[in-house]
Amino acid sequence: MHYNVIIIGGGPSGLACATALAEHQKEVLLLERKSRFGPKVCAGGITWSGLLTKVPPHLIEKQFHVQHVITPFQQARIIEKDPIIATVNRTNLGRHMAEKAKKSGVDLRASCQLTQIHHENKQLVFEDKENGKEYIAHYDILVGADGATSKVRKHLGLTTESLGVGINYQYPATAEKMEWHLDWTTFRNGYGWIFPHHDSISIGAYADRRQMTPAALKAALLAWSEKQGYDLSRLQPRAELVNHDYQGWNFGDIFLVGEAAGLASGLTGEGIYPAIVSGEIIGNHIADKGTDLQQMERLIAMHQVHSRMVRRTGKNRILTSLLFETITLLLRTKALSFKKLEMAH
Ligand SMILES: Cc1cc2nc3c(=O)[nH]c(=O)nc-3n(C[C@H](O)[C@H](O)[C@H](O)COP(=O)(O)OP(=O)(O)OC[C@H]3O[C@@H](n4cnc5c(N)ncnc54)[C@H](O)[C@@H]3O)c2cc1C
Repeated sequence: MHYNVIIIGGGPSGLACATALAEHQKEVLLLERKSRFGPKVCAGGITWSGLLTKVPPHLIEKQFHVQHVITPFQQARIIEKDPIIATVNRTNLGRHMAEKAKKSGVDLRASCQLTQIHHENKQLVFEDKENGKEYIAHYDILVGADGATSKVRKHLGLTTESLGVGINYQYPATAEKMEWHLDWTTFRNGYGWIFPHHDSISIGAYADRRQMTPAALKAALLAWSEKQGYDLSRLQPRAELVNHDYQGWNFGDIFLVGEAAGLASGLTGEGIYPAIVSGEIIGNHIADKGTDLQQMERLIAMHQVHSRMVRRTGKNRILTSLLFETITLLLRTKALSFKKLEMAH
């Protein structure tokens, strides 16, 4: 087996990268360890400006012109003419992106897990979990799109210090209000969310791992959600790390995209938009070195703004609470637009 490019991971970053490469007539193999493309622990929120060009309208579950931001001192309603955020179902998004990649000519393999990299020979070993057999594949270029605990990233010797933790419950009911709850006492410099979907509600919390352990975050989330009128105790939580430790994407003939590159926002955990954009741009760049990288540079600049805010807010309770109240006030009075806080800004 020999391919121009082998991509590890069939999340939004890997699928976007694979499609871009195949559209440039590259021979691409994409390996995904799960049996299906799409399912992923996620609240499924995408900011409207990020979504507009990247996700087709039929995948949108709900869209929101109003955001409710709740702090210990304010209950703000932020209203905009255009929708601010929409929700998508990750399984549907993955299915759509996988179909597009397949149509473009990508060799997509589900249930196939990367087990070894022998970069000196430009070859890797993967296991097909359906038949238990191991295969060797050769590449010119390797792309790590394998998420927060990326094996390709580890192979490059990169450490990962800046991690967030996200916990999500999918609550079987409907709701109309999209809510963000900012309160240091409960979530430190993270937040709790209520994101309505078509026939369920994503209720969860995100926090910097240096500030809260997953167990502490789960306990805080359960106590908080009960106060919001949701009993989550009988539901199964799902949690995952969010990698926001960005240290570069171009390592010669190895590239990292999406969360493998640490491109999720450390502040909000927003990672779908950075995954799709970095996957697409880096795929185009691998195929054509003249690709315009401006959008990638803007994404990295925004990522750095978010990382600075996480570092600063993590240090001091009073400062963080003041900052949360100020941002909420500015949003409420329209002195600050929600868009300024988005990764797609
Ligand atoms: C609780 C929670 C809520 C979130 N909510 C939001 C939200 O509302 N909005 C938002 O924008 N972002 C959200 N995120 C973040 C978002 O889900 C991720 O940033 C995004 O999925 C990253 O895309 P990716 O393609 O880089 O990685 P992933 O989607 O993680 O895809 C990586 C893929 O690689 C595969 N893989 C890993 N190792 C191997 C291997 N060895 N061999 C083969 N395949 C492998 C995995 O199975 C996976 O499918 C949330 C995250 C969490 C944890």
